[in-house]
Amino acid sequence: MRGTVPVLEARGTPFPSAPFVRFSTLWVQVTGTWCNLQCVHCLNASGPRDPWLKPLCAERVRHAIRESEALGVKDIYFTGGEPFLHREILPLLGVALAAAPTTVLTNGAAISEATVAALASLARGAPYSLEIRVSLDDVDPERNDRVRGRGAWARAVLTIRRLHAHGLLPIVAATEDPGGEGQVGPGLYGRLRDFLVDLGIDKPRVKILPLFPAGRLAGRGGDLLSEEVLDGFDRGQLQCAEARVVADGGVYACPILAGLPGARLSAGDLEESFRPVPLFHPACVTCFETGMTCRNA
Ligand code: SF4
Repeated sequence: MRGTVPVLEARGTPFPSAPFVRFSTLWVQVTGTWCNLQCVHCLNASGPRDPWLKPLCAERVRHAIRESEALGVKDIYFTGGEPFLHREILPLLGVALAAAPTTVLTNGAAISEATVAALASLARGAPYSLEIRVSLDDVDPERNDRVRGRGAWARAVLTIRRLHAHGLLPIVAATEDPGGEGQVGPGLYGRLRDFLVDLGIDKPRVKILPLFPAGRLAGRGGDLLSEEVLDGFDRGQLQCAEARVVADGGVYACPILAGLPGARLSAGDLEESFRPVPLFHPACVTCFETGMTCRNA
């Protein structure tokens, strides 16, 4: 696969780079790092107090969606922080759903029955699909709450049940080895799939994510990518080759590194950010080694 895309150096950095191949995915970090939970493995260190990355105002989000639509966006994701803390999340989802298939990443802890009903109504009337991705790290409440906080499991599962009852298809997202104890073993996918089937969800969807040395776990990874390591690898497979993130302070390379100065590609203009991405962070090693993408697929 080597050589299928042009590999250009990111200007002014000593790091290897990923090319910009095409624009397909817009991420909106709508609440910055403002969250109602404070998970031990959070890749951008979100939490309830004094978010280091501020939420976006609704007009900034609407502008980004309009801009992305004109540039041919194929799908839109809302993340944070916890997107459902944003007071305008429902109308913003309506704007996004008029432009492209839309997904919201949530911990499921701040979604009421009324909000789920409103989401179902939005989904029924939209020209594109709406997907809700709920974080749940284990089928065991205690193991889940050890990393996500007391009561997180029960609230997430209640939301999953409600989404299903309203005809929405929840995607459950889990992080492998969320405690970072090296206890990676087979079977997490199967356990979560069977758990969803037991809840009565006949079309279970599960996404497994690797642990990233970023955010609250920054410092656990030390290695960086080099030209030698990347030799023969098609860098166009990295998600930063076709995704961009609108967040406080500008447009960034990917949702993992949004808000970090090294990942900032423009001050706010989307098209201006369509340039090579410096692979400057230990999290880039995880992407390279696991082939993961933050998208649903
Ligand atoms: S963390 Fe992954 S997606 Fe983000 S810039 Fe690095 S390689 Fe690209």
